Amino acid sequence: MGDKHRIRFEPVGIEIEADEEETVLDAAFRQGVMLMHGCKEGQCSSCKSFLLDGDQQMERYSTFALADYESEEGYVLLCRVHAYGDLSVELINYDEEMLLSGIPPRQVRTTVSAVEAQTHDIVRLALTVDPADELPYRTGQYVDIEVPGTGQWRSFSMAGLPGGRLEFLIKRYPGGLFSGLLDGTLTPGDPLTVKGPYGTCVMRDAPDRDLILLAGGAGMAPILAQLRGLAATGSTRRTRFYYGARTRRDLFALDEIAGLGDRLADFAFVPALSEDASEPYEQGLITEVVDRHEGDLSQADAYLCGPPPMCDAAFELLTGKGMPEERIFLDKFTTSADS
Ligand SMILES: Cc1cc2nc3c(=O)[nH]c(=O)nc-3n(C[C@H](O)[C@H](O)[C@H](O)COP(=O)(O)OP(=O)(O)OC[C@H]3O[C@@H](n4cnc5c(N)ncnc54)[C@H](O)[C@@H]3O)c2cc1C
Repeated sequence: MGDKHRIRFEPVGIEIEADEEETVLDAAFRQGVMLMHGCKEGQCSSCKSFLLDGDQQMERYSTFALADYESEEGYVLLCRVHAYGDLSVELINYDEEMLLSGIPPRQVRTTVSAVEAQTHDIVRLALTVDPADELPYRTGQYVDIEVPGTGQWRSFSMAGLPGGRLEFLIKRYPGGLFSGLLDGTLTPGDPLTVKGPYGTCVMRDAPDRDLILLAGGAGMAPILAQLRGLAATGSTRRTRFYYGARTRRDLFALDEIAGLGDRLADFAFVPALSEDASEPYEQGLITEVVDRHEGDLSQADAYLCGPPPMCDAAFELLTGKGMPEERIFLDKFTTSADS
């Protein structure tokens, strides 16, 4: 282990200790402080903050997440920062409700209990946590799964509610280091190591605000988890779920979504097909379809997950319709290909 330093976060006045060998984000996780974060790999910019004072160095990151002019001005990505002295950091993005309610991540052993095709390229993977371990998490969070034999990790969001098996919806990329194993290579009984929970895309308590749920592709996973959570509590919020897919054959979980919707007071599911005019579905990019359906969104919150370009376009659309930026909760599914 290296030297330890004090990290003070403004304007909230929270202090943690960080070892030189860990990132400030990891140090915060360890101490139960839930800073805003997304990919944890310097690709998404969710943890961007301003360094007020102190000596630090950053690991490699994408200039899409932190442009050179921003780093020259003093902005940093906390998932990349190692402290080499005491630091004072101004959080740009923080959520007081989340900050001190973090569940420190842990590493657990699991066993594959199911691998089932949902569409031609989406697979449902279920893992059972070793009975000697447990992995508490909040609905909408994700974990990192170790790719067996490689020392590499990939992030996947839980589609289910906390308490049972860990359930994931994973898009298969032929040759993908982890998702490529879902071609029949991984089978029930295989061991997998999992680390988590991570992620801040968890439901905020705001009973008077409408809800926009928005997902593309495997982004279905955490959004389906949110829908399951809302149904379990009998939410009365006006809830609209927009799902972006290319064609009819990319749609799945339709019966389950309809069943969950029946338990909500005011719910509609609107799939948007970008490359297919199949009735009764709407054609167009998900942002075009949301634009057609929604007017002023200043009294709504949004949860959105999926490919980074979709998240960026949706963020712009929603803020353009009056939704406050701090009421948009998102996880961009960045990949190693984005770095
Ligand atoms: C917070 C978070 C949550 C996530 N949750 C999920 C989830 O619930 N379900 C899910 O399926 N994924 C999710 N992801 C993405 C996931 O972590 C992996 O990046 C993805 O599965 C690809 O990993 P791989 O090892 O299969 O492919 P890699 O070996 O990393 O990639 C191999 C090649 O496949 C291609 N490729 C891989 N991904 C893409 C892509 N998205 N678009 C275009 N080409 C690509 C590229 O050519 C790439 O070079 C999440 C990511 C983050 C950051």
